[in-house]
Amino acid sequence: MKVTEHIENAKGETLFSFEIIPPVKGHNIQELYDNIDPLMEFNPPFIDVTTSREEYVYIDRDGLLDKKLTRMRPGTVGICASIKHKYNVDTIPHVLCGGFTKEETEYLLIDCHYLGIQNVMALRGDAMKEEKYFEPTSGGHAYASDLVQQIHKLNCGEYLHEVVERDHCADFCIGVAGYPEKHMEAPSLQTDLKRLKQKVDKGAHYVVTQMFFDNKKYFEFVDAARAAGITVPIIPGIKPVAVKRHLQLLPQVFRIDLPQELIDAVEACKNNKQVRQVGIEWAIEQSRELKQAGVPVLHYYSMGKSDNIKAIAEAVF
Ligand SMILES: Cc1cc2nc3c(=O)[nH]c(=O)nc-3n(C[C@H](O)[C@H](O)[C@H](O)COP(=O)(O)OP(=O)(O)OC[C@H]3O[C@@H](n4cnc5c(N)ncnc54)[C@H](O)[C@@H]3O)c2cc1C
Repeated sequence: MKVTEHIENAKGETLFSFEIIPPVKGHNIQELYDNIDPLMEFNPPFIDVTTSREEYVYIDRDGLLDKKLTRMRPGTVGICASIKHKYNVDTIPHVLCGGFTKEETEYLLIDCHYLGIQNVMALRGDAMKEEKYFEPTSGGHAYASDLVQQIHKLNCGEYLHEVVERDHCADFCIGVAGYPEKHMEAPSLQTDLKRLKQKVDKGAHYVVTQMFFDNKKYFEFVDAARAAGITVPIIPGIKPVAVKRHLQLLPQVFRIDLPQELIDAVEACKNNKQVRQVGIEWAIEQSRELKQAGVPVLHYYSMGKSDNIKAIAEAVF
């Protein structure tokens, strides 16, 4: 089922969902299942599976370093298929502009269609680790809005070779990213919202937000998005702080602010076990207020570990 249908069917009840990341190449998928298992009692209608960009690795060949471009966490669509099959739940592959040509994207979408995957999250992707700015892949898209357009066209039976198939159209429900504290490259929140509106105008059906730790930022973002004419569901993304290093890492990587009260609480912790507990309690408070406000879904960034998400879900759902 589509995300929008899940939301409609819930009739105002807030749904629970989460995002997982594929294992590093060579690792067992069982570890992923072990982290999904405890969360299934909260009936997630859908689970997101991220896609990682390719990166350079250096292989030692008799003292000489060989530079190789590789994707360290492949398998997004395969994992979506296996989870869908194992748990009978909808899965949402994240589809990136970066690292993929339009042709490769089309093949990936066709695979998804054949697998009965009805939702995709359309994202630009970040710059590669070695790059300062995002460089579009040759033959690929520069912005998520262009990717949305490709998926929308596919929904209308329009493939890249321009033959219009009429009998077996895909009908993807398309999610896109939104940034309550603006995307790091956007010159202003207002400009970023214009870009978000473009994604919706080109065919996106719902928005999932970047993590935020102050609900006021989400509420203001939703108000501003509505004022800009964006009417689709805006799903809040929640990440519990888990280690002390997150105080530096999260603002640095995602360009988000942490509230002083949270910073103080984390700094007062003697170890990461205590930090994890602070993160859980903060996310519970955030989630309760958002649920009270009637958000359609609470979407959790699990980063592959579920014990803290389970503790939050137990308190909130
Ligand atoms: C919910 C969520 C899930 C994510 N999952 C993944 C994942 O699985 N894998 C991954 O690698 N990353 C993921 N990301 C991170 C995402 O790829 C990065 O934040 C990326 O830098 C931007 O992606 P986007 O889709 O928002 O890009 P876009 O919407 O293309 O926006 C990127 C920037 O370009 C600007 N812009 C947009 N259109 C134009 C235009 N026409 N002209 C000029 N400027 C423009 C925007 O304002 C913004 O600053 C996720 C982010 C979120 C919020």
